[in-house]
Amino acid sequence: AQLKNRGGSVIYNDSMRKQVRERLELETDLQDAIYNKQLYLNYQPIVSLETNQITGFEALVRWKHPKRGLLSPTEFIPLAEETGLIIPLGQWAMMEACSQLRSWQQKFPQLSAISINVNLSGIQLGNPDLINQIDDLLDSVGLTGESLKLEITESFLMENLMDNSSIANKMLEQLKERKIKLCIDDFGTGYSSLSYLHHLPIDILKIDRSFINPKTNGRKNSDIVKSIVNLAQDLGLALVAEGVETPSQLAMLKELKCDYGQGYLFARPLEASQAMEFMSHQFN
Ligand code: C2E
Ligand code: CA
Ligand code: CA
Ligand code: CA
Repeated sequence: AQLKNRGGSVIYNDSMRKQVRERLELETDLQDAIYNKQLYLNYQPIVSLETNQITGFEALVRWKHPKRGLLSPTEFIPLAEETGLIIPLGQWAMMEACSQLRSWQQKFPQLSAISINVNLSGIQLGNPDLINQIDDLLDSVGLTGESLKLEITESFLMENLMDNSSIANKMLEQLKERKIKLCIDDFGTGYSSLSYLHHLPIDILKIDRSFINPKTNGRKNSDIVKSIVNLAQDLGLALVAEGVETPSQLAMLKELKCDYGQGYLFARPLEASQAMEFMSHQFN
């Protein structure tokens, strides 16, 4: 869609100009948002399929944009990653999620075993400061690493961890020393080399929701889920199914002995107060 005029300079048409301008605007807006409290977290329950109890929450970022309204992370996380803003954003999210969990635990001692999952961008894993930041924030909030789980996408791990000496690999080892559990997010979409999985210091697989809740119905998906369940068992990893929406999906997962589920069937991502309300049902 680029046109050149006779002098050879590039002419942008109106829609391109608009796109470029919107992107630049969004970038400065995002910078402001991080410091002006326009970001907040939603919390989606993760449920044990054996006991039906909530075992933790995944923290999911939202942006209340002053002009555009509520934005989903898919609309700004990629931009945050391209611009490096994911570093302060990710640090904020981890701090916010941990202090929320801590304040829940202080109100309800029954919650001491509940943990919080935070999404970690691959870019954060390459930040040599990450481990110090995590130590400081756990310290200041008063949590131990056992309450924190970090989710890293399978595609990132596969692209970056094949080399044993990488910073990211060292980082994963340091997280493990702190008993912070590592989850592979969107598992099944990144073509992991199975022999390699075994060498990674990971604890949990999260099966991507496209296998649980396929666009096209088929026997094949339950076969895939079944083989991922077996794989997790063989490797001694806990398994979470994402995107559980229907009772029949739940029944299949229970039958296959998947450990945990997450999805609209249990609850949508909730605001902090709703999440507490939701969980209070299980105290009785
Ligand atoms: P994700 O980590 O795979 O998170 C799960 C996404 O699936 C969430 O979308 C959640 O709302 C949605 N979901 C949960 N249950 C269901 C269901 O039953 N059906 C369907 N169709 N969807 C369900 P959300 O909140 O829009 O987040 C999108 C992505 O943005 C996340 O995907 C994650 O990759 C990224 N993200 C969100 N928060 C953060 C963050 O703090 N840091 C980073 N780096 N990425 C984040
Ligand atoms: Ca996730
Ligand atoms: Ca996921
Ligand atoms: Ca995803």
